[in-house]
Amino acid sequence: MRRLLLVLLLLVTLAGLWWQRAPLGERLYSQIAERRAGRNALAGRSDGLTLIFCGTGSPLPDPQRAESCLAIKAGDNLLLIDGGDGGVRKLAGMGVPLGGLDAVLLTHLHSDHIEGLAPALLLRWTGSAAKTPLPLIGPAGTAQVAAGYNLMLSADASYRTAHHGEAIAPTGGGQFAGQDMPPGVVWNQGGLVITAFLVNHAPVAPAYGYRIRYKGRSVVVSGDTAAAPAVTEAAKGADVLVHEALQPRLVAAITRGLENAGQPRTAQITRDILTYHTSPEQAATLASKAGVKLLMLTHIVPPVPNRLFEAAFLGDAAKRFAGPIRIAHDGSLLHLPAGSTAIEEDGL
Ligand SMILES: [Zn+2]
Ligand SMILES: [Zn+2]
Repeated sequence: MRRLLLVLLLLVTLAGLWWQRAPLGERLYSQIAERRAGRNALAGRSDGLTLIFCGTGSPLPDPQRAESCLAIKAGDNLLLIDGGDGGVRKLAGMGVPLGGLDAVLLTHLHSDHIEGLAPALLLRWTGSAAKTPLPLIGPAGTAQVAAGYNLMLSADASYRTAHHGEAIAPTGGGQFAGQDMPPGVVWNQGGLVITAFLVNHAPVAPAYGYRIRYKGRSVVVSGDTAAAPAVTEAAKGADVLVHEALQPRLVAAITRGLENAGQPRTAQITRDILTYHTSPEQAATLASKAGVKLLMLTHIVPPVPNRLFEAAFLGDAAKRFAGPIRIAHDGSLLHLPAGSTAIEEDGL
């Protein structure tokens, strides 16, 4: 009898909760949203060089990974390297405020590195009421990409100024200022020095990797490249090598599937991409030659649906590099504190 009463009480409670699901949901949502909106996920971290991986995928559809996007925070500097589809929106969703974005650097002009830049423009503009255009810096052709974005978004920019007013969306701030820069120092401000070097992504040329230095810490970002001695040279003595990675054995399975499905042209594309990317094993060899402390793989091709498949993706990379090898995920964060040798790994 007592048990029956308890079951009845439970059923009545559940029915009450179901009946009240709209007001309860609103209250719960409000509590979470009030806490999360406008937060700064980078606040409270010690001075140092911070990398936030906002997009770690490639043009191959991957529900877990946006296209190429990496944010660099160092002192007062906040920069992006590349902005592929979905990356910048993910970064904003991670709680990284983009009002203070200083510039966007491009490694090269493949669509998966440039097609998601509109949110960077908009969030930096309205986040800081910027009156000046956002620098878009990269290899030859970058100014043309900037001009294309400005043309595409000119109507949008005028609507936003008209709607929100000059105090929030001032005329002139919702645009890019494109700069084609030769290899060499492309950024030198507040202790952060970023140097572009040529990599081998032929027929895409020029294509850049970047060496990033801040207060004695350094990171090299390969960009998209076949295994290149230039990356080893640039990464000599760096703390971290962030390298793109494609596992040919797994891509070959996709090629076979496309051939079996009667799609020979798409199958050929999956063979072509092998020539201008780097396998995890090759990246590990480069990391070893350069003597870096940690190898972070990104631009993951093909998509690996969950961590179960990461060992298959890495192959025997671990035999070629004695240090830690990580596969970056969207939200992975590395923090290199100034005046230290530590590498802190975190996630947003
Ligand atoms: Zn790419
Ligand atoms: Zn590329």
